[in-house]
Amino acid sequence: MQIHLSDISSSEGKCIQRTVEFEMDAITFQPGTFPVLAKEPVELTITNTGNRVLELVGTGSITVGVPCDRCLEEVPVDIPLQIKRKLDMKLTDEERVNDLDESIYLTGMDLDVDQLVYLEVLMSWPLKVLCKEDCKGICSQCGKNLNNGPCGCVEEPKDPRMAAISDIFSKFKEV
Ligand SMILES: [Zn+2]
Ligand SMILES: [Zn+2]
Repeated sequence: MQIHLSDISSSEGKCIQRTVEFEMDAITFQPGTFPVLAKEPVELTITNTGNRVLELVGTGSITVGVPCDRCLEEVPVDIPLQIKRKLDMKLTDEERVNDLDESIYLTGMDLDVDQLVYLEVLMSWPLKVLCKEDCKGICSQCGKNLNNGPCGCVEEPKDPRMAAISDIFSKFKEV
């Protein structure tokens, strides 16, 4: 959803509030595409703090399906949104290019709330996702999800001589 900012950026002290639906139904970035499972509209407050500077404050939340790091089952992850940005409306689009973030969600006087939320989601992206603390992961041999029970593969016993050799190698690397 777009919010046109020319009115507010020309009236100092003005404050507007908007409840904005986040329209994207998936988050796509470098590691892949993740479905948006649930979302709350963003409560956005835009204040003109003077000198054509706008302060954006927004809250909301979004639930994204992210695969478990170990077993790859989809886990619903809640990502709270705490948006806080300052926009200098005196800058032209060309000057804004220096601020890559800003040029993504602001074009001229149009604020793209979806892009704003998208960036916020990326910044709050969870580093580690597990379906449960003691997730058993998948079998490295047959690929079965071991949370659903053992797969029957025989774990290859580690050869103590090989372990000693790899120890030597890792020591060698440390030097
Ligand atoms: Zn898991
Ligand atoms: Zn197996």
